[in-house]
Amino acid sequence: METNEVRQKLERMKMVLIDRIQRIESDKKRDEPIPQDFAEQAVAVENDEVLDALDEVELKELKQINLALAALDNGTYGTCTECDNGIGDKRLSALPFATKCINCV
Ligand SMILES: [Zn+2]
Repeated sequence: METNEVRQKLERMKMVLIDRIQRIESDKKRDEPIPQDFAEQAVAVENDEVLDALDEVELKELKQINLALAALDNGTYGTCTECDNGIGDKRLSALPFATKCINCV
């Protein structure tokens, strides 16, 4: 396993994610006049909920990427955090930020 390559891949994923999160956040903060119409208000609330859910998924992935980068730093990358078995190259190339093996997910 070429760790430099993995690190670059993870850093790239991280930048894309941070970019996406920032866009979601600025979308949420956008100063919209409060719609007068009740139906429009309901739609506005719904949109915010969708953004919140999306944000949560992105933040969770970002957390996992950070964990994987930390694991690269201390040499535990590729080892399952649950059972200490190898995660497997095949799984890692599909999911470079995986911190658990297929049996522990
Ligand atoms: Zn495991």
